Amino acid sequence: MNNGTRELYGLIGYPVKHSFSPYMHNAAFEYLKMDAEYRLFEVPPEKLGEFFTKTIVEQDIKGFNVTIPHKEAAVPFLNASVSQSVRMNQAVNTVRVETDETMSGCNSDGMGFSLDLKERGFDALKKRVSLIGAGGGAKAVATSIAVKNPAKLLIFDLDSAKAASLCDIVKEFFPSVPVEAVSSVEKLEVYQADLLINATPVGMRETDPLAIKKEWLSPDLFVYDLIYNPAETKLLKAAKDAGCRTANGLGMLLYQGCLAFEYWTGRKAPVDVMRKALLERLHG
Ligand code: NAP
Repeated sequence: MNNGTRELYGLIGYPVKHSFSPYMHNAAFEYLKMDAEYRLFEVPPEKLGEFFTKTIVEQDIKGFNVTIPHKEAAVPFLNASVSQSVRMNQAVNTVRVETDETMSGCNSDGMGFSLDLKERGFDALKKRVSLIGAGGGAKAVATSIAVKNPAKLLIFDLDSAKAASLCDIVKEFFPSVPVEAVSSVEKLEVYQADLLINATPVGMRETDPLAIKKEWLSPDLFVYDLIYNPAETKLLKAAKDAGCRTANGLGMLLYQGCLAFEYWTGRKAPVDVMRKALLERLHG
């Protein structure tokens, strides 16, 4: 129970122990001298309904992030406003509990990615983009790239049905964007892309293979890996060695968190404080 005046926020997922989010949000609350706390809620799939109908009210939770495996399953519980980002992604990562206990939701993953890319000076307008992966992260990335009117967006996933389905989503919301689901990593045409994005978990483990061929990497390419732990994946190391500009997913995590913070609290997120908290957590 949350008996005090302290406002409670958090993250629901299964598992959630690994999450970096409490570090950045609690650092922000402390910096802004807010009497608030961000906690982890480990919610197995069979308990998701109970979390929405009971736990939120019982613990007086004001807002929360949603992660794997609940991002899609949580959407039907939104009974107040639902943002276009949720409709496009068919997934929610940020829920706000309104004063009448109804729930609004948005998906800040795509905008988080966009803000990070912008900060790094990359504009996808008329650029060729190759995307590896078509899961939850890739969906957010693909739609935020499509908004920018790229010259071409190619998507590859081991699961070809997932790649085709993501391609259909992009076509539905952005009919003028040339998007294609390809059947092999070779067909991603990385050697002529401007931006290569890894949105698969490949690279999280040291033993993971390189998902592309080193020879495809050239200094004109920007390589963005959604993975942030490890900070430098095999892909990013190979890209750096080839002279590419690179980014890991920490900036995307940071900006999706800042957007969630603002959505819940109505206050400007202290970006630098939150970034520092994440970097300290990552590098120890
Ligand atoms: P997901 O929903 O499981 O999607 C991953 C997709 O990649 C799956 O469809 C998987 O296919 C496919 N895949 C796996 N290996 C592949 C390969 N070698 N080539 C092509 N496709 C492959 O996972 P997710 O939630 O999108 O997350 C993906 C990664 O992004 C994770 O490392 C996650 O931590 C990271 N992420 C970071 C942020 C951030 O804020 N930085 C946000 C979201 C996600 P199968 O299902 O057939 O294996």
